[in-house]
Amino acid sequence: MAGFPIRGGVHPDERKLTSDITIMRVPTPERLYLPLKQHIGAPAKPCRVPGEIIYKGALIARGQGNVSAHIHAPCSGYVEDIIDWPAPHPSGLPTKAMVVVNDGREIREDASVPVNPFFLRPEVIAERVAQSGIVGLGGATFPAAVKLTLGQSHRTPVLIINGCECEPYLTCDDRLMQERTHDVLDGIRILAQALNGPEVIIAIEENKPQAIDLMHKAAAPYGNIRVMPVPTRYPMGSEKQLIEFVTGREVPAGRLSADVGVMLHNAATAYAVNRAVREGKPLTSRVVTVAGEAVIRPGNYEVPVGMLISDLLAFCGLKEEPARMIMGGPMMGQAIPHAGIPVTKGCNGVLALGAAEVKRRVEHPCIRCASCVDACPMGLSPLTMASLLKRDKLDAAVEIGLKDCILCGSCSFACPSGIPLAHYFNYGKGELVSTAQQKQKDDEIKRLIQGRQIRMQRQEKEREEAMARRKAEIAARKAAQALKEAAEEPSEDSGKEVA
Ligand code: SF4
Ligand code: SF4
Repeated sequence: MAGFPIRGGVHPDERKLTSDITIMRVPTPERLYLPLKQHIGAPAKPCRVPGEIIYKGALIARGQGNVSAHIHAPCSGYVEDIIDWPAPHPSGLPTKAMVVVNDGREIREDASVPVNPFFLRPEVIAERVAQSGIVGLGGATFPAAVKLTLGQSHRTPVLIINGCECEPYLTCDDRLMQERTHDVLDGIRILAQALNGPEVIIAIEENKPQAIDLMHKAAAPYGNIRVMPVPTRYPMGSEKQLIEFVTGREVPAGRLSADVGVMLHNAATAYAVNRAVREGKPLTSRVVTVAGEAVIRPGNYEVPVGMLISDLLAFCGLKEEPARMIMGGPMMGQAIPHAGIPVTKGCNGVLALGAAEVKRRVEHPCIRCASCVDACPMGLSPLTMASLLKRDKLDAAVEIGLKDCILCGSCSFACPSGIPLAHYFNYGKGELVSTAQQKQKDDEIKRLIQGRQIRMQRQEKEREEAMARRKAEIAARKAAQALKEAAEEPSEDSGKEVA
């Protein structure tokens, strides 16, 4: 089936050299470092204290608020500490993390499993997904249960399963669809059940013929599920692009896909949903592509969440010191400053690039060729936005669409002058976030000050009223006393009579 026309896109070198390598399970190391924020939304709150014994799959930190996700123990052992630990971010700045020590016994927490997950009511499925701490495993890390609940409150007659994996190097979703086809498909059926039986389209890029074939055969018995091969073009796997290509519907800026009647989940998320709902296993591990010329044994590894990248790379072997390390793919992933950072739920790739793979691009002046405009999938004008940001005109950049930028990096890739356009947009978006955070903080301080003033005025009024009451009481008492004294005092006339 042909899709609808979409804008922009580029064709970076695919480098999917691990697409034929079978998934291998990595042994759990002695210590795991589990950041409390591995999802979009508020950080989870620890519900275990240091020293507490835990079993594999036990809840160790509870999601907070409407958009958050629980965190579970990937091994049995005990909680050693709750500390500040480098975050999976280019800054490497610390974030709160729980340290879990593995006792090597793999004792699993008991979990209830349904007789047949396809008989469960949608809200029960959403609750089980929430209890399992599942987030979007394509890298977006939006809590999956929140999406399911949204899908129930909005009418979403279309469910798209994103099996595109359009980033170079990454092959973990491809391998999952090839090796665990029926588990992925069952997860898709459970998601469809949770959304009251929509039409399901499994979108897979054409460069994954085995996955397309296997998923197609597995889906054949189900009339509402079909596989749609989509062109290999970056960033086909981004939510808005894929929805537009598959359905022709455009998700307006600042709106959700549910607003246009579409729900989108990643293939790996579907796999995690199957494990959670069918087997009662929360999300404590994921498949990660480890690649790059610095790696001796690149491949697809099932890695416990919280494993340090240094431990993972030690398992895979390094033949040289990586020239650059990236968490995720080379286009939208995060460059990381060192390997002492843990694998998190959203980490689909660890790239240890060799010196020969890292192109040091020299920046030249803009030649106004408009290649960046042609490449932008969001129809933006990257050169104008970058020029505004260079001049600190953040508001003007927002006016021409900075908030719509998905940071896909297609413009930087297409630019013949080597201008790191997406870096400017990343910076601009960071500024927007910190401005919004500052405003939130200022509003909170204002609210606290106003609250204090109102409280003080009320106390003052209460004090004045109490004082007035007291004065009135004293005056009344004095008056009563005076009356009493007057009544008791013998009158001169009565004394005279007695005499
Ligand atoms: S692609 Fe680069 S050189 Fe061409 S217009 Fe855009 S910023 Fe300028
Ligand atoms: S990074 Fe932003 S501006 Fe550049 S191509 Fe992607 S969406 Fe367009």
